[in-house]
Amino acid sequence: MAEIWHPFWQHGLKEPIFEIACTQDEFLITNTGKKIIDGISSWWVNNLGHNNPYITDAIKKQACIMQQIIFAGFTHKPAIETAEKLSRFLPSKFSRIFYSDSGSICVEVGLKMAVGYYYNKFGKNKSKIVAMEHSYHGDTFGGMSSGAKSVFNRPYEKMLFDVIHIPYPIKGREEITIKEYEKILKSNADKIGAIVLEPLVLGSGGMLFYEPFILDELYRLSKEYDVMFVLDEVMTGFGRTGTMFAFEQSNITPDIICLSKGLTGGTVPLAATLCTEEIYNAFYGQDKSKMFFHSSSYTANPISLAAASAALDLWKDKKPLNDVKRINNYYKAHVKNFSNARILGGIFAFETDGAKNDYTANIAVKLYRYFLENDVLLRPLGNTVYVMPPYCIKEESLDKIFALLENIA
Ligand SMILES: *Cc1c(COP(=O)(O)O)cnc(C)c1O
Repeated sequence: MAEIWHPFWQHGLKEPIFEIACTQDEFLITNTGKKIIDGISSWWVNNLGHNNPYITDAIKKQACIMQQIIFAGFTHKPAIETAEKLSRFLPSKFSRIFYSDSGSICVEVGLKMAVGYYYNKFGKNKSKIVAMEHSYHGDTFGGMSSGAKSVFNRPYEKMLFDVIHIPYPIKGREEITIKEYEKILKSNADKIGAIVLEPLVLGSGGMLFYEPFILDELYRLSKEYDVMFVLDEVMTGFGRTGTMFAFEQSNITPDIICLSKGLTGGTVPLAATLCTEEIYNAFYGQDKSKMFFHSSSYTANPISLAAASAALDLWKDKKPLNDVKRINNYYKAHVKNFSNARILGGIFAFETDGAKNDYTANIAVKLYRYFLENDVLLRPLGNTVYVMPPYCIKEESLDKIFALLENIA
């Protein structure tokens, strides 16, 4: 029998691997009955709680009707309904939606849309991409290329396409980032097709926050130099930062937005890339060589879309934001017990002392073990400890998490 090779997991450290038998709300329940609080929404996907009954029901129903069909030349009700419901929450600028299966892919789709737009419309080769230092856009080659050069991709560095990174905007010194972007645009604008950013928070980079006005400034420059503005809201989308989408806290609407993780409430895989009519039009016409050459076998899977459609019903009146607010208030009441914690919407983060900020830092393994021994799943990024729970988390579960955090702060 083939032994299972787990992702982002050093098997040589011999940490135990728990078998989860079932889930409920904010809990992962092992086959021996251990009830673990999922403090990181199972890698940032599960926003609406495990086994949400409404979404579960939609998945069950759809599974009996239709499970998978080809999406080239065919469509189905869950795909149409999801597009319609999602549009209620987004500016009309996003007139086209393209479905795919994962966060990495929906970002790659966004980059292909941008670069393809300039090629199809003007015959221009604007294939250079700008991204931010410390950013993370997934583990595919496009995702790795756009993301920070780090321990995640070192062996593959030579295989990655060339991306220009602008500095992370450190609070109070944001000018540096903006000036640097302007400098890059001045000398390369005819080559740059897109800038891709995680809005307001760099997740894997260590839950690094930055101010909304940075998005305004970078957008303004992008338009001045005719560069597509792509926001990777894979993690931030669907309430994480306190608004339905992070870009709502700025004054701009991007040209392309990439959504995944919370799109189905965190139940089944799905992603979507939305873009403007102008971008779509560059691919539209009688010429087959100009169509958008992208798909995966399971594109627009009906079960995934039924889940997304149901999750979007639960977003009616943006109700889940009330829970994000409740969690945010809880954080605010506890932040005084930490010397250097930061809060954004449903995210709480701080650095533990005495360790360098390195993903492979031993402290991360020690803390991970300590939390799990106490029935809490938190997975520090190096010495950055963060909490990002499903929005349904109960106060007593937060109490349990924060009792542990206050012990190690
Ligand atoms: C998780 C994540 C991705 C990658 O999504 P996958 O579904 O794991 O491919 C891309 N961008 C951001 C910001 C993410 O947090």
